[in-house]
Amino acid sequence: MCGIIGFVGNEPAAPILLDGLERMEYRGYDSAGVAVRSETAGLQVRKTKGRLQVLSDLIHGGADLEGNLGIGHTRWATHGEPNDINAHPHVSENGRIALVHNGIIENYLEIKEHLMRQGIHFTSDTDTEVVAQLLEFHYNECHNMLEAVGRCLRRIEGSYAFGIICADYPNALIAARKDSPLIIGYGQNGNFIASDVTAVIKYTRDVVYMDDGEIAVLTADSVDVFDDELLPVEKTHSLVDWDVSAAEKGGYAHFMAKEIMEQPEAVRKTISPRIRDGRVVLDDLHLTAEYVRDLSRIYVIACGSSYHVGVVSKYSWEKLLRRPVEVVLASEFRYCDPLVDEKTLVIVISQSGETLDTMAAMREAKRRGGRTLAIVNVVGSSIAREADDVLYTWAGPEIAVATTKAYTTQLVLMDLVGLYLADLLGTVEQSEYDAILSEMQLLPEKMRQFLS
Ligand code: GLU
Repeated sequence: MCGIIGFVGNEPAAPILLDGLERMEYRGYDSAGVAVRSETAGLQVRKTKGRLQVLSDLIHGGADLEGNLGIGHTRWATHGEPNDINAHPHVSENGRIALVHNGIIENYLEIKEHLMRQGIHFTSDTDTEVVAQLLEFHYNECHNMLEAVGRCLRRIEGSYAFGIICADYPNALIAARKDSPLIIGYGQNGNFIASDVTAVIKYTRDVVYMDDGEIAVLTADSVDVFDDELLPVEKTHSLVDWDVSAAEKGGYAHFMAKEIMEQPEAVRKTISPRIRDGRVVLDDLHLTAEYVRDLSRIYVIACGSSYHVGVVSKYSWEKLLRRPVEVVLASEFRYCDPLVDEKTLVIVISQSGETLDTMAAMREAKRRGGRTLAIVNVVGSSIAREADDVLYTWAGPEIAVATTKAYTTQLVLMDLVGLYLADLLGTVEQSEYDAILSEMQLLPEKMRQFLS
């Protein structure tokens, strides 16, 4: 969801990676990291929570890391809080494969459990590390990196753009994508991959847009693209016609326009991992049918636009659950002596997860014995940490003050939770459940058509 850059060529990679990441800073991120490979030092990985400047200082602007092959990443956490360990690149257990990832691996838990049973140890909480370990697992089977990537992609579900380097392939950078943007840039002194043209525009305007299911193998002077059967694909080159200043906001006039256009993708990321085999699956929600049946009251508490999500959701929830839902402004909640007890479910909604009034209201609800469920965009934020349950909207960073994609993802997530609870209660007919769910899955494409 945030930034990927990769370089293989005839000059030091680390300063180029830092420069590319800096150009994608406008997207927002919570941590950053690079992996660079050299003949003498092998695979060197440096990563840290926080600003890119911290990473840059750590490696002295790149001077500390020798090597002409590398990958870099700015992360917007979806699985595991933002910290040094969860930052990318992730490295396989034997330290020979490093990988950066944008997106979400939906079946990561199942694969993680499988690999753990084989004795593989994990160090992070991310979905991404699973892919690094799975790659090593398949590489040990077939001793061919392209084949190992192919096998890996056949096993994982979800959205991804990957940049991969392997100590055994000192001159190759590998990339793959599905439902997350990735381009290849053809430079004078080497070749690039990037999740955003912005990152490479200083070096080249000659790019190829990768398509879903494709894998690319880049060296300093060659690029080969393969389909999901590992058969070669001929790609058409494009010439980027923006200049560097337009590139700063990904070609949009301002962040709000960019974020409006990101809504279909954001909505898809919010819902698609949570619908499996025609059912709503909320792995992170620990509410039993008995608890939901015994509920005497449901509150939705929020501020600003999130409050409006509550107001809209009240209609769909009351219709589906046949129970009253009360929507209260967080700033009022503490002062109205709310009727909260252990049979009260309190939903709190906040994009940042740091909204002070919402936080205070949530604490008050907990103090009175209520159970809290947070709908939040920022992983590891204060509200996310303190709530009894948390569901993330996975909208990616929202920079414009006026909310767009955070609002729409909150709305669809509330609908999804409403449907899930109605199913637990048995208050929704199967035919209606199916109809809502299939309409919901059409939503991203309808939004895309509407926006275009
Ligand atoms: N799901 C991955 C993580 O949480 C990648 C997030 C991203 O796209 O930055 O680490």
